[in-house]
Amino acid sequence: MIPRFKPDIGWREIAAAMTLPRPDDIERFENEFSLKMGQKHAVAFPYGRTGLMLLLEAMGLKDQEIICPAYTCVVVPHAIVASGNIPIFIDSQADDYNMDLELVRKSINKKTGAIVATSLFGYPIDLNELDKIRSDYPHIKIIQDCAHSFAAEWKGRAVQKEGSAAVFGLNISKLITSVFGGIVTTDDHELALKLKELRKKRTSPASIRKSIKRFLYLIAVSIAFKEIIYGLVNILERSGLIDRFTKYYDPGKIDMPYDYLMGLSKMEARVGIVQLKKYDNIVTRRRKIAVYYNKNLGNIHQLILPKIVEGATYSHYVVRVSNPNIYIINYLRAGIQLGRLIEYNIPEMPAYGSRNQKEYPNSSRFARTVINLPNYSTKITAKIAKQLVCTVEGNVVN
Ligand SMILES: *Cc1c(COP(=O)(O)O)cnc(C)c1O
Repeated sequence: MIPRFKPDIGWREIAAAMTLPRPDDIERFENEFSLKMGQKHAVAFPYGRTGLMLLLEAMGLKDQEIICPAYTCVVVPHAIVASGNIPIFIDSQADDYNMDLELVRKSINKKTGAIVATSLFGYPIDLNELDKIRSDYPHIKIIQDCAHSFAAEWKGRAVQKEGSAAVFGLNISKLITSVFGGIVTTDDHELALKLKELRKKRTSPASIRKSIKRFLYLIAVSIAFKEIIYGLVNILERSGLIDRFTKYYDPGKIDMPYDYLMGLSKMEARVGIVQLKKYDNIVTRRRKIAVYYNKNLGNIHQLILPKIVEGATYSHYVVRVSNPNIYIINYLRAGIQLGRLIEYNIPEMPAYGSRNQKEYPNSSRFARTVINLPNYSTKITAKIAKQLVCTVEGNVVN
């Protein structure tokens, strides 16, 4: 079975994980990461969401409104709530997946403390519009959520540099991984110091038990995503037996993982260092795959293809269809797993008050119609594209 995503983990990562720890492993990872992103400072955390939560605290924000997309990973508003602030959700634009900056502007009021600017699926957020908001409201903090967009560029400007700080997620489904983990970058020396202070105060160092668990997880992951094994993994996934490894949210709850305040392990930091070296290749490959898919699927009118945007990272190749399940089932029969990365509009989730979908027409539509095609290996793209054509033709006959 071809998995919907696959971390690029090989012997180098395993070897790095097995190396004896050094006291400065985490610092080395932070230094390499900030260098790669062209930022002065990087501060590593056990999860991206822990980084976001402590970043909001380090910025001195409390009981304030934090603007974020309605269509994003649900851990983002969870972290906002955990920091003692209130998420304000913004509908997506009609033509790409990022939040509508016109609506952001309309939502700004005296209580607005920060804006989480996300470049979703790696599409760089419109920095022209963001610049205007920044100059009109200089006191509002801009946080770039770069979980999908490590070094994505908008007209040649790297998104991570365009704000007070940037947050990155590093779990196995991201462009590069440190097993779990997240990291915050900034050019603001004071902010970096405060963040490190808070990290020291609020989180405990990784225990040996955690390091061992994460190491075993890394080994399991490096095996599980092999095509001959993944069929079994998929059966386990559907049976619900491995939910605690694969389900990252409960639609009815606002919560953080039980170990969200236990620091990144040194082992994870060492894996992250190896992954950073692969970053350029990974993104180049994804861009090539996006162009290939668009060229080969362009004449199927049932599909809404993603735009080809210069500077996008294509962390995911996302297509919209009227009935995702037909595609998912047909693909599974052909031995290919499709993803539905964000299949919810956050304000509609019970945890966030079940707001009417009409208030968020675009986000709501995206949630119901997206599928993402595997985009990590050029070897399998032809097979995946062909299956899409077959599925569409099958649909027409039915
Ligand atoms: C993955 C992700 C994060 C961070 O996730 P963690 O699991 O907490 O590391 C943040 N924002 C978006 C959009 C993401 O996809």
